[in-house]
Amino acid sequence: MQSFKGFLLTKSDKGQSLAWTDLTDEDLMEGDVTVAVSHSTINYKDGLALTGKAPVVRRWPMIPGIDFAGDVLTSTNPEFKPGDAVILNGWGLGETHTGAYAQRARVKGDWLIKRPAGISAAQAMAIGTAGYTAMLCILALEKHEVTPDKGPVLVTGAAGGVGSVAIAILSKLGYHVIASTGRATESDYLKALGAKEIMDRAELAGPGRALGKERFAGVVDAVGSTTLANAISMTKYAGCVAACGLAQGMDLPGSVAPFILRGVTLAGIDSVMAPKKKRIEAWDRLARDLDQGLLDALSVTRPIADAPALAPEILAGRVRGRIVLEIG
Ligand code: NDP
Repeated sequence: MQSFKGFLLTKSDKGQSLAWTDLTDEDLMEGDVTVAVSHSTINYKDGLALTGKAPVVRRWPMIPGIDFAGDVLTSTNPEFKPGDAVILNGWGLGETHTGAYAQRARVKGDWLIKRPAGISAAQAMAIGTAGYTAMLCILALEKHEVTPDKGPVLVTGAAGGVGSVAIAILSKLGYHVIASTGRATESDYLKALGAKEIMDRAELAGPGRALGKERFAGVVDAVGSTTLANAISMTKYAGCVAACGLAQGMDLPGSVAPFILRGVTLAGIDSVMAPKKKRIEAWDRLARDLDQGLLDALSVTRPIADAPALAPEILAGRVRGRIVLEIG
């Protein structure tokens, strides 16, 4: 049986360990499509899995990695044939199903989508789950009629992956973007992506207020906790807050006042189990509404071997934008 290389996470009494090792198809879980993986990426959740900081991995041993781009090798699924360019985001990859950080993956064809024309495998992973989630957030704002004429949109965790992609898309769509960041040194970077104003994240980090001055027509929040509570309290009448992240915390210590007095909508965003139709919509919009020059500006490329060193960096909020991992 042909072998290939990949990262394998194992667990023992001493904790978890990660090794770049030889694997065969027998190490892969069930699926009707086998893919030659060329690129992956590191998201916040990958950082949690690789370091063991949160119980992301629920099956051992595990090939980590929640996102991949590659080409179909074999398929018994009528939708896919050898050579098809595909991408996969989430669906429990790297959590409950063997994942992306290997030269080969075997998955359910239902989880795959065809890579849109005009997006390379590397660009697809520069977008990755973080960028696709940013698009899901923007689709939620649009669904709730947050249009550019309604007022500014706040993006929290601005210099991170979700934040950077959200700013690039929103600015192209004509929104006035306010970028909330803890890294003042990244102001020029955020303005180059299209942010019109920079807000110190400390302004939103204090105890959640019930109602603040109405400032934002919409919010893309990657941070949670008091930041999310304060963002909701400062959202304009009939505005919408898309909540996707927990970089500050999982709690939401706020008030119902913005919901019952201002008709604010809190839209929850999940990328992992989002239905295929929604994913295709998001990726089609990414192909159309994400400037490729800005995508290049917000991403860097590193070899897969760097993933273990990058994991604590992303959890510490020291990664800017997105990282593409080359595997193939
Ligand atoms: P990144 O680490 O790239 O970005 C997170 C950013 O949050 C950091 O860059 C930093 O931005 C900010 N941040 C970090 N710590 C704090 C803190 N203590 N208080 C306030 N802000 C903080 O991660 P991703 O962009 O990949 O993911 C962002 C979040 O979204 C994560 O919580 C992730 O789990 C979640 N997520 C959820 C998905 C879903 O399906 N719901 C899918 C994808 C991501 P800055 O330096 O600019 O302040």
